[in-house]
Amino acid sequence: MPHNTYKFKTIKERLLTSTSAVAGLSVLGIGLASVFNPIALGAVGAYSAYKYGSSALMAIPPYKRWAMNRMVKKGHAKALPEDAPVSLMAKDISDSLGRPKAPKVYTIDVSTVAEIALPLGMRWLAKLRPVQDSISREAMHKVFAAAPGANVLLTTKEALATTPEKEMRFIIAHEMSHLKTDAFSPSIFARSIIKNTTQPLILAAGVATGLSLFGVGLPLTLGLSAIKALGAVIAIQYAAKATAHFGMRVVERRADRNALYITRDMDGAQKAMDHLHDGKQRKAMSIFKEAVQTHPSYLPRKAALLKSFNAVSKYPPLQPVNDNTAEQKPEKAKVAEQKVS
Ligand SMILES: [Zn+2]
Repeated sequence: MPHNTYKFKTIKERLLTSTSAVAGLSVLGIGLASVFNPIALGAVGAYSAYKYGSSALMAIPPYKRWAMNRMVKKGHAKALPEDAPVSLMAKDISDSLGRPKAPKVYTIDVSTVAEIALPLGMRWLAKLRPVQDSISREAMHKVFAAAPGANVLLTTKEALATTPEKEMRFIIAHEMSHLKTDAFSPSIFARSIIKNTTQPLILAAGVATGLSLFGVGLPLTLGLSAIKALGAVIAIQYAAKATAHFGMRVVERRADRNALYITRDMDGAQKAMDHLHDGKQRKAMSIFKEAVQTHPSYLPRKAALLKSFNAVSKYPPLQPVNDNTAEQKPEKAKVAEQKVS
């Protein structure tokens, strides 16, 4: 029974994401508490809170402006002019969604992205030229991100140069959907905590294992308990991720669905998927690997797009903003009859 009002965020999606986030954090908490002592947990908890706090600050507009300006000053980011094609595209979509203010679009530089992509303790690697190149050459062309709560879109000049307009429109609509629906996302909150508590533990257990196995100062017994701890934290990390990332994929599918509602362009969506996934990434993924992905992998994501397209086609399209005759007719949209291949 198609309702006349399209829901950008359904109750089912809210339930799925919040439940999986809470469950993921419980798995993490119970798992870690049964393996590590309270002092170690207090330390990683404080680190995680600090990391989460600094990223959550980005949601406060004055802080966001300060942080973005600092990145711009350091040469890590560049604000694009309001009349840049991508800014206009974002503004167009933002207006059609009835948002009061168009997002600001920034390009960020290669080293910043390469640094963010590296795990904790290895960020210095990004400063080395060859590593920086190998990590980022492929990835650079695919960077599009939203800072929900901050009304900011981030991309790279490489991505802008290599993404065709049709694909770009779907991708920008997807990011705009994140800005609209995910100002506070329990999944991202859970993911941040899981990542920032398990990474330092893996690093510490890994270093302790290495030092004692190579006979550098630490007794072998300590090395053995370090190996055990390492195994345990990797297993806990996997279980917590598998639980919480389910919710992240719900959020991503929602952004895809909303993007289709905005663009009504199934072909653009399919092409965007092809653009974002190279040959290797298009292969079917094992369920064990799929379980810890933040985004659905290529095949399930494309299948979900098709379902979403059928679902959104039941609603009338968004009215263009500059159309003064903006009177929504709650009849079935014509797009519904379009064949999808
Ligand atoms: Zn997304």
